[in-house]
Order: sequence, then C-alpha cells, then structure tokens
Amino acid sequence: MFNLLKGKRVLITGGSRGIGEACVRAFARYGCRVCFVYKNSRQAAEELAKEAGALAVCADVSSFSQAESALAKAVDYLGGLDILVNNAGIAQEKLFTDISELDWKNMIDINLGGVFNFSSAAAKLMIQNHSGKIINIGSMWGKTGASCEVHYSASKAGIEGLTKALAKELGPSGINVNCIEPGVIDTDMNRGYSAADIAELCERTPLCRLGSADDVANAVCFLASDAASFITGQIIGVDGGFAV
Ligand code: NDP
Repeated sequence: MFNLLKGKRVLITGGSRGIGEACVRAFARYGCRVCFVYKNSRQAAEELAKEAGALAVCADVSSFSQAESALAKAVDYLGGLDILVNNAGIAQEKLFTDISELDWKNMIDINLGGVFNFSSAAAKLMIQNHSGKIINIGSMWGKTGASCEVHYSASKAGIEGLTKALAKELGPSGINVNCIEPGVIDTDMNRGYSAADIAELCERTPLCRLGSADDVANAVCFLASDAASFITGQIIGVDGGFAV
C-alpha cells in the first residue's frame, strides 16, 4: 500500500525529533521527496536531512510569515507539495492556576497556531492543484482532557475542530484533512515521567505498552496515501486503546 506514496512531495513540521523524525524517515523510505521544519535541534536536523536525503528548514511554526517562507522553500525544493504533516508541538505540565498568560499564549500559538499557519500557506497551493492531503497531529488529551495540562488539551481540542471544519471546506477542492491523536508515545516529550509513571500509563493502555514514533508514522503514511482517498475530517486514535 505504501508504494502508492512513491514520488509524493511531503512537508513535515517538527521533523527533527520524535514522531516527526519517524515520519521523515518513513516517507523517505517509501520513495517520497521530503522537506521538514525544525526550530532548535539544528545538529539533529542536519544529520537527519543527510541520512534521509531530505531538506531541513529552520522556522518557528508559531510565526505566520516564517511558515509562509518555509513553505515557499519547501515547494521550491520539492517542485510542488502533495502532503503536509502538521506535527510540531510542545507540552507542559502545570496546575491550571500556575499557567501564566505567556504559557497559554505559547501553547496555543505553537500547537494550534502552527497548524493554522502551515495549513493556510499549503491550502492556497493545494486548492490551485485541486489535490492534497493535510494530516494534523493532535493528542488523545484533546478529546479526553488531561489534568494539569489544560492549555495543552485546549490546543489539541482546537486541532479537532480545525480538522473537521477544514475538511468540509477543502473537500470540494480535492483535499483531504485528517487528524491523528496519539496516546502516550515514547519520545523526548515524555522523558520527564518516572519509571513508575510509565508503568502506570502502560497499565492504563489496553495494549499494555507505550506507542512508538513509528506506530504514529505508519498511520500518517496510510492517511497520506491514495489508499485513504475517501477518508476526510476524521480523528483517528493511535493510542493503544487508551482513550476508548
Ligand atoms: P518531541 O518533543 O519529541 O518533538 C517535538 C518536535 O516539534 C521537534 O522536532 C521540535 O523541533 C518541534 N517544534 C517544537 N516547537 C516548535 C516550533 N515553535 N517551531 C518549529 N518546530 C517546533 O515531540 P513528539 O515527537 O513526542 O510530538 C510530536 C507531536 O505529537 C506534537 O504535536 C505532540 O503534541 C504530539 N503528541 C505526542 C505525544 C507523545 O506522547 N509523545 C502524544 C500525543 C501527541 P526542535 O527540537 O528542532 O525545536
């Protein structure tokens, strides 16, 4: 099925580490041309770009103008754009009463604003082409809400609404928009958890383990392929059954 991806032109935000890195490697393995956006992890991004034969572009997803110029660089390198994966994100655990105005703004601007900024730039091109796939990485906490992660949960719930509305608006233009909601995935984002926390999270997961970045990348590749051409506006859990 993934041979349907051969030759597709892909842009992934937050490709330097974790789930985004797994997506970069997977799309490259399936014969796609790949560009990815990173912000701080320059060395990792450059090494990955070399290994995967991809282009790394430095940009802050929370900036509309940086998103526009990153997308233009990607399109120039790729010769167009077929697939956008909005993956870049941050997380923060805080009591609701400790969340500052700046914490709130950063979270919303990066996690939700980043999806808007890149989708806006990509949609203009995809509408002209009358084809394209946009895949947003939300979180199961956007559906269920996580205690001590109100701003994170709100940003990810926003991605659910954005995905559904954009799918309706862009469907007639031949563009599919979907969202994947990962559960607890073994990446840097969860390095702060103790061994006991991880054991408890595994116990709460029906499939009894953490997810891997590849588990998420596989679902992204499926939604990006023409095998998923009649799927749009969907919120798909890759969470081992956690949020069921
Ligand atoms: P990581 O912390 O491992 O990686 C985050 C990535 O996002 C990095 O490549 C980072 O780039 C990039 N990034 C962060 N902020 C910005 C920014 N302002 N501009 C551009 N790039 C940025 O996270 P994961 O791989 O675990 O998470 C990826 C996505 O999956 C996120 O949206 C996250 O919310 C979501 N998710 C993750 C889960 C998990 O359990 N891990 C569960 C549910 C959802 P750099 O390092 O170069 O700055």
